[in-house]
Amino acid sequence: MGIRVYELAKELKLTSRELISKLHALHVNVKGHMSSLDEETAEIIRHEFAPVAAEKEPKKEEAEKLKILQLKIPCTVKELSVKLQVATSELIKRLIKQKIMATINQNLDEEILKRIGMEFGYKIEKLPSPEEVLVAEHNLADKEGELKFRSPVVTLMGHVDHGKTSLLDAIRNSKITTYEAGGITQHIGAYKVHLDKGEVTFLDTPGHEAFTAMRARGAVATDVVVLVVAADDGIMPQTDEAIDHARAAGVPIVVAINKVDLPSANVERVKKQLMERNLSPEDWGGKTIMVEVSAKTGQGIDNLLELLLLEAEMLELKANPARPAKGVIIEGKITKGGGPQATLLVQNGSLIVGDVLVCGKCFGKIRAMINDRGQRVEIAKPSDPVEILGINGVPLAGELFYVVSDEKKAREIVGQKSEKEREETLKGGLKRITLEELYSQVKTGTVKELKLIAKVDVQGSIEALKHSLEKLTHPEISLNIIHAQVGSINVSDIMLAAASNAIVIGFHVNIEPLAKQEAERQNVDLRFYRIIYEVVNDIRMSMEGLLEPKLKEVFVGRAAVQQVFKITKFGNIAGCIVTKGKIIRQGVVKLYRGKDCLYEGKIATLKRFKDDVREVPENTECGIGLVDFIDIAQYDIIDCFVIERHEKKIV
Ligand code: GDP
Repeated sequence: MGIRVYELAKELKLTSRELISKLHALHVNVKGHMSSLDEETAEIIRHEFAPVAAEKEPKKEEAEKLKILQLKIPCTVKELSVKLQVATSELIKRLIKQKIMATINQNLDEEILKRIGMEFGYKIEKLPSPEEVLVAEHNLADKEGELKFRSPVVTLMGHVDHGKTSLLDAIRNSKITTYEAGGITQHIGAYKVHLDKGEVTFLDTPGHEAFTAMRARGAVATDVVVLVVAADDGIMPQTDEAIDHARAAGVPIVVAINKVDLPSANVERVKKQLMERNLSPEDWGGKTIMVEVSAKTGQGIDNLLELLLLEAEMLELKANPARPAKGVIIEGKITKGGGPQATLLVQNGSLIVGDVLVCGKCFGKIRAMINDRGQRVEIAKPSDPVEILGINGVPLAGELFYVVSDEKKAREIVGQKSEKEREETLKGGLKRITLEELYSQVKTGTVKELKLIAKVDVQGSIEALKHSLEKLTHPEISLNIIHAQVGSINVSDIMLAAASNAIVIGFHVNIEPLAKQEAERQNVDLRFYRIIYEVVNDIRMSMEGLLEPKLKEVFVGRAAVQQVFKITKFGNIAGCIVTKGKIIRQGVVKLYRGKDCLYEGKIATLKRFKDDVREVPENTECGIGLVDFIDIAQYDIIDCFVIERHEKKIV
């Protein structure tokens, strides 16, 4: 007996979709929310999502005694002095003690604030910014009863000239002539088609660069990717790229085999090529929907639309039209008249003319909304694309928007955001993952995977690299090559790396100038190699570096406390005799009273008569002082250890 995906999702307080994408990330192949998982897999997933054990929190008891103080972070010395009710001069003195030279108006970061707060008996917590409060409000879960089905949002991807634009046009035209004769189509970056069984929204900016650029800004606007493959040409480099981009985003793929009207069309060959990439057609027993179409003759287009609805049904896409809207910007531009304009996609809630929204650094009260047929509308519901007028700037594609209560609130949020951004730019821009940073993330358990994108000179190098890198395995961290291809490193590789937190490897290839700029802007970690051995070695070392060394305590000796001396300057000193082995000044000690271990820490002083010594041998008397511990009594036992580091190796 297993458990269904939706049941487990409910248990873990996730949506089925979130769980499915996590499962895919863990290479667990599930089709939909009704798929069942065996108990073992379920257990692993539960473990993955278990909250971090409380004991990992250091000094919990101590922390509980502290009073909680919420601060906006960063916070200046002056602001902190007001909050803590201590003089700025006193604060500055404390900071100097910690080797921090700060002036009254200088901003202190979170770590320093926490340390200083602790000294004054406070546990400092970050006061959420107005933007964080807003996002949290919008992300409050909807009640099951309020959720309604929403239509799927689809993006077409594939190799250049395989017919993405033609298909988008063919779909739009076929539906508009049938259902809305006379309607003027308006290119706003997205459109919606109406079918008997439902609706489908198409994003009109084909290509994976746009798709991944959006994802790099935090938005997955697409529910289903239609992979367009020309039947006469078969799989080409950008087809592979598109597959990897869709997979990295966890978005399901429906394949449209286009140009089947051509005599040179070879559908079987395309299917075989897709099989090699783990996309198996349903009619061959696989799970991927594949439709033969022709943008030229219109053949198969109705079928494609119907199957898209079917795929969407399995995804159980839902939203709550009764709440304030949030969504994503599809496109931003300046109108002929000079005013800013944006096309956006509503993802949850309903957007109404007169609503005030915030997106990125822009905000405004919506003056007018126009749909994809050029009609003015008053309301846009989930999965509806609309063009809006009334914002004060041009937002970027992929930025998220949120409706707020009024313009005053919007101004406050945007104001704070600009301030924060300025600080981040000062600190050196956006932070993407680098091998060095991965270390701390592996330590906290947030990352268990090193993702790589490899660009190489010849096909053979891909196989060789994969073969060598796949051997690098370890239970604590896995290596995942999310995209490997022949060719120089291009902008879309950088976008994929930024969106997926991956590292890019160039093997005997260069990087395109634009990609280089983008990598610098996005802080993507790039590495170039010319020998496979170097790649493997470097990646192995990086992975090993990510693993915490195993520490082993090795017993070196034991001392019995015979007498306790009170020394004003040092506190209590234990007069001992070494009964076993030796006591080492640099060692780690544990103090036992009976079976209870009362202290674990370091030796402050180790003396033989009046002299400081490095070690004391067996059967010798000595004086031991412990760091920050004076509760020593006669008959206590002090055990001494050394810590051996065993670096974990990847073979
Ligand atoms: P995109 O680069 O993927 O957007 O491809 P386009 O839509 O621009 O199409 C590239 C070329 O293929 C154009 O010359 C189209 O006329 C042609 N084309 C697209 N779809 C079909 C089709 O189904 N059959 C035929 N014969 N030609 C097509």
